[in-house]
Amino acid sequence: MSKSIPREFIDKLIEMSDIVGIIGTYVDLRQSSGQYRSKCPFHDGDNITTFSVSPQKGIYHCFKCNEGGNVISFLMKYLSLDFLEAVEKLAEINHVEIPRTATKQGPDNSKFFEINKLVANEYFAYLKNEPVSVEYLKKRGLTGETAKDFLIGFAPKVQSQLIEKLREKFDDELLIKSGSFGKGENGLYPFFRNRITFPIFNTKENVIGFGGRSIDEQMPKYLNSKESNFFQKKRELYGFNKARQDKELDFFLVTEGYMDVIMLNQNGINNAVASLGTAFSLYHLENLFKFKNKIIFCFDSDEAGLKAAWRSLNQCINKIYADRTVRFLFLPAGEDPDSFILKNGKEEFLKKAENALVLENFVFQYLKRGKNLESPEDIRLISYELQNLTKNIEADILKETLVNKISKELGVSKEALVALKKSAPKANAQLVEEPSRAKTDKSFLLFIYIYSNFKDLIADKGAINFVINSKEEVLAVVKKVINSISDGSTEHTELALYTEAEMLNLKLSEEDALQEFQRVSDEIQLKYDKNFLNEMKKLAKDKKLSFERKENLQKTLNLSDNISIQEEELIKLLNDYA
Ligand SMILES: [Zn+2]
Repeated sequence: MSKSIPREFIDKLIEMSDIVGIIGTYVDLRQSSGQYRSKCPFHDGDNITTFSVSPQKGIYHCFKCNEGGNVISFLMKYLSLDFLEAVEKLAEINHVEIPRTATKQGPDNSKFFEINKLVANEYFAYLKNEPVSVEYLKKRGLTGETAKDFLIGFAPKVQSQLIEKLREKFDDELLIKSGSFGKGENGLYPFFRNRITFPIFNTKENVIGFGGRSIDEQMPKYLNSKESNFFQKKRELYGFNKARQDKELDFFLVTEGYMDVIMLNQNGINNAVASLGTAFSLYHLENLFKFKNKIIFCFDSDEAGLKAAWRSLNQCINKIYADRTVRFLFLPAGEDPDSFILKNGKEEFLKKAENALVLENFVFQYLKRGKNLESPEDIRLISYELQNLTKNIEADILKETLVNKISKELGVSKEALVALKKSAPKANAQLVEEPSRAKTDKSFLLFIYIYSNFKDLIADKGAINFVINSKEEVLAVVKKVINSISDGSTEHTELALYTEAEMLNLKLSEEDALQEFQRVSDEIQLKYDKNFLNEMKKLAKDKKLSFERKENLQKTLNLSDNISIQEEELIKLLNDYA
């Protein structure tokens, strides 16, 4: 039976396991200078430091009785299990299923890696013949050296020569299973066509798949290889093969895209990884924590980025104990690591990273967004959300520091925050999570920010007048802020919404500010101003909208959840715009 568990699965299982967490549930581990130590559970001694666990190496060892091994040998020894039982126990701890149908030896993937490596090299060589792609990469600041370093290539439309060459060595079935080719009516076809290709390496430097970016209208813009037993997005991180070798920085940087990783590397920051178009997972987390105990998540500062950061936090909150830390870096709006480092260089980026939000501050910033800290109702909602987060935390200190922070900020006693009932009515939870509300909040912030910083430039007061005269309840606080800015009083500086808006801290040129203001004004009015739609329809019919305004309106409408018939008419008019 034990032979029927693939070796690879067991390796993966060991790799994903949190050895400190697991041994720590049986033994009282204390952390000191990068090691976790305790009294040895396998011999009778009173020295509390003979037994040590190394999360980096994934092993434990006692220098007195010489007992040692990996997480499986620990479970075998400590719980008196045989090998198979220990594997089952470990799978259970990690919430994964043991693949029962696998073959005796576990799959041999070396042929697939060989194919994919050949394909990657071929695409790399082909890139030179593709001026459009070369131009695109150059424009993004990429050097030839970096392209070589990451083996960035180009998958042409027609790849019959490559396929014939591969067929000399491999049969079709292998080529298909490699993930690089599919089979259609006319035989084999390449999975990536007319795309810039980014080979994805595992930690053993095998090419396990590709990311491909289209250079024409082909959708989706980014495409990844299909999943297989050797390519699983929830386990793999782009750039991890390089980042794990970095010795310069004491943290990993988790970014959102391949180009972030690549451009950071080009600029001397070699600790960055990116997930492969999936959410950050526990596997990712454990892989990173094996090498360094600090992770900085770098997300866009828009609502989508905040949400992604929040999801990642919820994913890892229970894995943050002892000296492990997680921080959150939000770059100025509109910037990602790729664009930021290109403009500002390594030192500036590292300065930003150094000032990344600590977990407690991020939690507060996230929970209070769009909320009014003077409203008892909002305070209750924030408390409820906090409770949802903290009820999963096992590390006492983290719970304490979080509750401390929020308690201070909200003026609610710690006892009340901790003692909140676990089951709040469902309706409340939905209210808090309602996405449209959050999305609107973001536009309010920008609206206020630009108005407060560029007030005198704004000639078109349509949106301002609308907000000031609006009876919409959701606009009440916005109205207060705008009124106070307009009449030059300082009342607005006391309001949380204004403070939050000012935190956007954007470096906008006057021109950009005006354009953004128009966009965000349109967004708000489309949503709340009943006359606005007709006005826009008229302007669209008479072709009196500027190109940017038209584009932005289209985008806004495309993002809207429910399109009314009226809105559909506007969409049609905009689409017909020559
Ligand atoms: Zn011992």
